[in-house]
Amino acid sequence: MENNKQMRTWLDDFKLDHPLVIAGPCSAETEEQVLNIANELKNSDVSIFRAGIWKPRTRPGGFEGVGAIGLKWLQKAKEETGLLMSTEVATAAHVQLALEHDIDVLWIGARTAANPFAVQEIADALKNTDKIVLLKNPVNPDLSLWIGGLERLYNANIKKLGVIHRGFSTYEKTKYRNNPEWQVAIDFQNRFPDVPLICDPSHITGKRDMIHEVCQQALDLNYDGLIIETHIDPDNAWSDAAQQVTPNTLKQMFVDLKVRKETDEADDYNIKLAKFRAQIDVYDDKILEITGNRMKIADEIGLLKKEKNVAILQNKRWNEILGKMILEGENKGLSEEFVLKLFKAIHQESINHQEKIVNK
Ligand code: PEP
Ligand code: MN
Repeated sequence: MENNKQMRTWLDDFKLDHPLVIAGPCSAETEEQVLNIANELKNSDVSIFRAGIWKPRTRPGGFEGVGAIGLKWLQKAKEETGLLMSTEVATAAHVQLALEHDIDVLWIGARTAANPFAVQEIADALKNTDKIVLLKNPVNPDLSLWIGGLERLYNANIKKLGVIHRGFSTYEKTKYRNNPEWQVAIDFQNRFPDVPLICDPSHITGKRDMIHEVCQQALDLNYDGLIIETHIDPDNAWSDAAQQVTPNTLKQMFVDLKVRKETDEADDYNIKLAKFRAQIDVYDDKILEITGNRMKIADEIGLLKKEKNVAILQNKRWNEILGKMILEGENKGLSEEFVLKLFKAIHQESINHQEKIVNK
C-alpha cells in the first residue's frame, strides 16, 4: 500500500466538479422500484446507483433481500439510465453473481469488514478485477482492522479501491444509529490521503432529518464522496425506512450543501485551514460530550451523598485526581498549569451540580 496515488485515478476518471455521489435504495425491492428510482436519479449529480440485493439483517425473519434476480433489474437500470451500478457482496458466491451481471462497483458491508476470513474470501474472488471495490468501516472502531481489510484487497491486485465511513456500533443509545467517531476516519485519511473516502450519512444517522448535517460535516472534512440511501417512497421501504430520502430531497440537498472546491494555489491555504478547523470541531464536540457524561455521573454521586448525608467536597479524592491528571497531562504535552485550571473548572461544575441536588 506504499504507493497508493494510483487509487485516486478511478475517481478522477469520473471528471466531476463535485464530490462523487452514490445513491439509491437500501434494498432492491421490485423491478419497478429499481427502475423508478434510477430514472429519477439520472441527469443529477449521482454517478453510481446503489441497491442491496443480499441484506445482512441483525435478526432473522426480516426482509433479507431479493437475491440474484435483483441483479437483472440493476442491469436494466444501467441500460435505461447510464448510471453505474453498485451492490453489497458478502461471500465469494455474491461476487461471482455480481461479476456475471456486470455490476460496476462492489462494496463490502460493515459486518463483513469486521471478519478477516470473509474479506479474504472476497478479495480472492475478486483477484485482478478492474471493478471499483469499496470497503465499509468494520462495525467496531478498529482502524487496523479497517486498514487490514484494504490491504487484503490491495494484495489481491485490486487497484480501484475506496473506503466508506458508515459509523460504529455502540451499546449506549446516542443520537446516531452508528456513532461516527469522526477521528477514526480522520486518522484513516491522514494515513492514506490518496484512498478515496466516502461518507455514508444514512447508516451513520439512521434518520433522514440528520442526513444533511452529516453530509456537510463530511464535506468540511474533505471527504471525496457520499453514499445516500434514496427511495421513491421512503416510509414504505422494505428496509431502513427511517433513513431514506426521496430523489427530490436528495437533489435539493445538492443545491444546499456547501462544497469547497480545490481550485488554485491561493485556495490551498483556505482548504487546509477549513479541514483542520473541521477536525477541531470534532474534538470540541467530543470534549463537551465527555464532560456532559462526567457531570451525569457527578449527579448520581450527588444523590448518593444526599441520601447518606455526606459532605460534597472530599479533599482526599480531589487531590488524588489532580495528581494523576497532572502526570497524564504531561505525557500528552499539556502543562501542569493548564491541567490544574481545566480540572478546577470541571470540579467546580461538579460541585455546583451536586449542590443543586443535595439542597433540593
Ligand atoms: C447498506 O449499505 O445497506 C448496509 C447494510 O450498510 P452497512 O454495512 O453499513 O450496515
Ligand atoms: Mn441500509
